[in-house]
Amino acid sequence: MKIVKFGGSSLASGNNVEQALKIILSDKDRQVIVVSAPGKRDDQDIKVTDLLIKYAKQVLANKNSNEIVQEIYSRYQEIANYFGLENEKVEIIKEILLNLPKKSYPNSDYLMAAFKAHGERLNARLIALILNHQGIKSRFLDPVEAGLIVTGEPNDALVNPETYINLDQVSIDPDERVIFPGFFGVTPSGNIATFARGGSDITGAILARGLHADLYENFTDVNGIFAANPNIVDHPQSIKKMTYREMRELSYAGFSVFHDEALIPAIQGQIPINVKNTHEPENPGTMIVPEKNFDPDNIITGVTSQKNFSALYLHKYLLNKEAGFTLRILQILDNHNVPYEHMPSGIDDITIIFNNEFLNDQLIDQICNEIQAMINPDKLEWINNYAIIMIVGEGMKQTAGVSRQILDSLGQDQITPRMINQGASQISIMIGTQKEKADKAVKIIYDQFFN
Ligand code: ASP
Repeated sequence: MKIVKFGGSSLASGNNVEQALKIILSDKDRQVIVVSAPGKRDDQDIKVTDLLIKYAKQVLANKNSNEIVQEIYSRYQEIANYFGLENEKVEIIKEILLNLPKKSYPNSDYLMAAFKAHGERLNARLIALILNHQGIKSRFLDPVEAGLIVTGEPNDALVNPETYINLDQVSIDPDERVIFPGFFGVTPSGNIATFARGGSDITGAILARGLHADLYENFTDVNGIFAANPNIVDHPQSIKKMTYREMRELSYAGFSVFHDEALIPAIQGQIPINVKNTHEPENPGTMIVPEKNFDPDNIITGVTSQKNFSALYLHKYLLNKEAGFTLRILQILDNHNVPYEHMPSGIDDITIIFNNEFLNDQLIDQICNEIQAMINPDKLEWINNYAIIMIVGEGMKQTAGVSRQILDSLGQDQITPRMINQGASQISIMIGTQKEKADKAVKIIYDQFFN
């Protein structure tokens, strides 16, 4: 049995849904279908999830929301009309939308989560209606009914292990298709909570593990995962196969085709993932597989850059002899609730790299003041325009001289790394550079290994 997940851009219009249904029906093993909310029909369009966020905000501000409800409903209506579904059958969608503000929620975060979740919840309902209308036996299965239990933040939830016990109880008839909404689960107290944005990928992986699927097919709008960002490198190669940990490193560092959190359930269940293109389903796409017996095609699998970093450079003689030095720095960061990304160090110095998402000017000053007062370094420098280049490949483990090749090629273009760090797994090399040089560095490294 296969779990098939379709992203929002693959379900944005009637036309798109028709293509998705064709894919589903062309393989009897594609039995469990996880759907996103309808996405953008064109560049100017708005995702249904974002419309629902707007709706929730209007309700929280006690504003009239008739217009936004109509706008959301019309997105579903358009798809229903395309398939000739009678109006009475889809009116339930409008009713559910109108009833959302009348329900009770523990606080505004839960309200927001419940509104957002309805993008997928209503879409799954609609797609099950369409399939049944076409005479194909199908069933809408709600995460609440299936026992997809989540805990943590209402808008950034995590799956609870109890889910897998519950999913073991779910039975699926051999001749039916089950349509399951992505992106959300239910908390132990019975409220709806969503995963992080893009979280329908996570639902697909949870079902793949929990229902013991043979394959998790993730349909999106590109031919799998590219070895580099196509906005930086002209027509990069698409990756035929890669390991889970390569994907995790690359998605952490900016590859956004597949959600990084979604890998964990797939790894736990050792379910292979196939990222494919809805508009070109015959293209094999990218297979993401376990490390065992993996035979890499290339030395490196992908290269990416992330530009949203800053770094704190500290220099102090005999730093490596001073016990508790890093502990005290981490204590200061912890007091301000600021996580760090990397911390490469030398004998007399250390660089701490931060994601800017967690910082603001005031916080930076506070942290620097406290570190200066407590640690008394000889030099403290805050570097704003920091970028990280990540080079990932299982093939690097068995190849000598990869770092030299990378550094030589960068050097020829006068790019001098601010730091270089090889991950303990030996499958990634991380290079710190100036933000302005990051794209150039990605191009150079790509050309070095792929052209
Ligand atoms: N619809 C949600 C979002 O836009 C989740 C998803 O599409 O995966 O973030």
